[in-house]
Amino acid sequence: MYKKIVMKRITIAIDGFSSCGKSTMAKQLAATLGYVYIDTGAMYRAVTLYAYQAGLMADGKLNEEALIGMLPQIEVAFTGDGGVLLNGNRVDEAIRTVEVSNWVSKVSSLKQVRQKMVELQREMGKNKGVVMDGRDIGTVVFPDAELKIFVTADPKVRAQRRYDEWTAKGMHVDFDEVLRNVIDRDYQDQHRAESPLRQADDAIVLDNSYMNREEQLNWLVAQVKKV
Ligand code: C5P
Repeated sequence: MYKKIVMKRITIAIDGFSSCGKSTMAKQLAATLGYVYIDTGAMYRAVTLYAYQAGLMADGKLNEEALIGMLPQIEVAFTGDGGVLLNGNRVDEAIRTVEVSNWVSKVSSLKQVRQKMVELQREMGKNKGVVMDGRDIGTVVFPDAELKIFVTADPKVRAQRRYDEWTAKGMHVDFDEVLRNVIDRDYQDQHRAESPLRQADDAIVLDNSYMNREEQLNWLVAQVKKV
């Protein structure tokens, strides 16, 4: 007689510093488990793109009031294949530019922006069977998540990964600027008043500076099995 093993569907929160490869690992893990993957950074990036296109950073400073006023008309969603939609238009590439990366921490520090995104994220993850990556998933969005991973890596290794990604796409970027962006975003994400980036007390730390993707996936699957 066969014994059917039914694994309980859980919520997996992956938080950590920028450019740690959280999205790649969360996507791989979701595919391995047959779970839904949600990239919450992409949601904040989409709002940032909207603000940028609306000219709200035109004078080098974010017009916060105008952005807050526009929030009801900003719709962020995902397609079935993981694409990002901003008011119905696919923006997968447009949200990955240097400009959006430079402004996103500012935009995501606004309470009203976070409230709207967190509400959406809770709705998307309400049926469990989800891997969600971000900065505040284990602390704010799903504090009861069964598995919380906090990812970190050497800032230089992270900057190199982002630099390689951008140059492979034919973008001309300066390594020092990329490194500065990584360090600045870490600082801003950790020091903002609203839901700062911090490790949840019950999170497991993963330093992936010198791990390849396969080692990382094996490590993650082992953590899921423990749960
Ligand atoms: O993950 P990614 O680097 O694409 O996220 C972009 C930015 O969005 C982060 O630097 C952070 O400012 C913000 N963010 C956030 N909360 C999340 C996910 C991302 O504040 N849950």
